[in-house]
Amino acid sequence: MSDWKQILGKEVPAHLLLWNQPMREKFSRDYFDFSPVLLKSLTGRIAECVAMPRTFVELARVLAVARDYGVPVTVRGAGTGNYGQAVPLQGGIVLDMSHLNRVMAFEDDQVTVEAGARMGFIESVARQRGLELRVYPSTFQKATIGGFVRGGSGGIGSITWGTLWDSLVPAMRIRAMDEALTVYEVQGEDVTPYLHDYGTLGVAEQLTIKLVARTEWVQIVAGFPGLNTAWQCAQELAINPTIKKRLVSLHEWPIPEWFRPWNQRISPGHSLLLMEVEYRASDTVKTLVASHCGHIDLIIDPDKYHKSNGVSDFSWNHTTLWARKTSSRWTYLQTRFDPHRLQEQIQAVKLAYPEVLLHFEWIRERGHLVVSGLPLIPFTNEKHLNELMDFLETNGIPVANPHTFRLEAGGRMFSGEQFWQLKERNDPQNLLNPGKLKNLSERSVLTVNDGQGGM
Ligand SMILES: Cc1cc2nc3c(=O)[nH]c(=O)nc-3n(C[C@H](O)[C@H](O)[C@H](O)COP(=O)(O)OP(=O)(O)OC[C@H]3O[C@@H](n4cnc5c(N)ncnc54)[C@H](O)[C@@H]3O)c2cc1C
Repeated sequence: MSDWKQILGKEVPAHLLLWNQPMREKFSRDYFDFSPVLLKSLTGRIAECVAMPRTFVELARVLAVARDYGVPVTVRGAGTGNYGQAVPLQGGIVLDMSHLNRVMAFEDDQVTVEAGARMGFIESVARQRGLELRVYPSTFQKATIGGFVRGGSGGIGSITWGTLWDSLVPAMRIRAMDEALTVYEVQGEDVTPYLHDYGTLGVAEQLTIKLVARTEWVQIVAGFPGLNTAWQCAQELAINPTIKKRLVSLHEWPIPEWFRPWNQRISPGHSLLLMEVEYRASDTVKTLVASHCGHIDLIIDPDKYHKSNGVSDFSWNHTTLWARKTSSRWTYLQTRFDPHRLQEQIQAVKLAYPEVLLHFEWIRERGHLVVSGLPLIPFTNEKHLNELMDFLETNGIPVANPHTFRLEAGGRMFSGEQFWQLKERNDPQNLLNPGKLKNLSERSVLTVNDGQGGM
């Protein structure tokens, strides 16, 4: 056993460390298998140890050993990321945050929580107090707040509140991997570099996130004879400022056929619009649907909210999950369609790539309404996938590539010297999730899209 393993065993109680292979394998994975490209490159990357601290003192002890012996550390929330964010490329320690999960304090419209708190738990505690999350991923029942902020982007609620880059996180407590294991209380604009950085700039111990007053949400599922009428209805709902909404999610047939729990209740051959809107707008939405030749397949009243399958369980990358239950050949892309050119862009894609199935989520980014596309692609080979990405870009549909574990290649939303200064200050030995960023020496050639984050 190398020195660091013995020292770690002395510094930290034995029950907080996992050394056996099956557990190390389990904690070294995420959902990168949605990408056949990542599956090939990431399979077999395994940590040498999993550490599961119960306190921040224990967490600091693990980091101190890693720092002293130059051991890589990859932080892990719930491991639901799609890009291998939580995979330890260079072995070392996986630092599991799931036991640091307390909801600490509510103050006005925000709450402070430990980084390993599950978003579903935060949402339910907040709703008991007449509040709720602004934005959460479709994996919210499992996903941790630390993992969402450091590895996700947006989700349910983004139609109104935007993405991580829209002031959702006013403050974060960061533990650096420097000589003193310095703790930084980061606030306001200074939080931005730490968003969607795959934990490469420090460990988030505690976060403060924005909440909003609780709404009674009704979930409405509507079928449309064609994709055209369906997207027009979705767009009209999305831009309507008088209807409060949390989700507007559209799925071309035959995707809805794969939503197994509902497939007896939805109309065959129809595109499906999934909506979460305020209860008192139910009748307005029903009228809107009818005006676009749609019909209501299913209504889930507010008293069932978060208690059984809801529309969000079929939205965002859950759509890809349901597709992959029918066949693992399905993979996906992350794109931005232009709401003003949607018809033309849809036609162009369907003409050139009829096998691609369209799935859209309406969201806001920095106040602007955009249509986030998560098309399903039957995978053939990498060359074909790359050609498709080129085709989309050429047609004005930017792609944030989900088939790479490199942060800068995935289209992260922050660029500039500030990131690298923080990297040098917070992690001078490059021990935090190494391999996800270009080497520090290559930083001058780093170009990061100032476009969209991943998902
Ligand atoms: C079916 C499916 C649907 C999804 N839907 C969405 C969606 O709607 N929106 C969306 O944004 N994403 C989505 N995702 C991706 C993922 O579920 C979310 O981003 C989720 O919030 C990640 O949380 P996690 O706790 O699992 O993080 P993990 O996967 O464990 O970690 C994510 C990244 O954050 C880092 N990290 C975790 N905790 C910390 C910490 N405390 N300090 C520093 N770094 C840390 C990790 O090192 C890793 O790089 C989906 C994934 C799947 C499989």
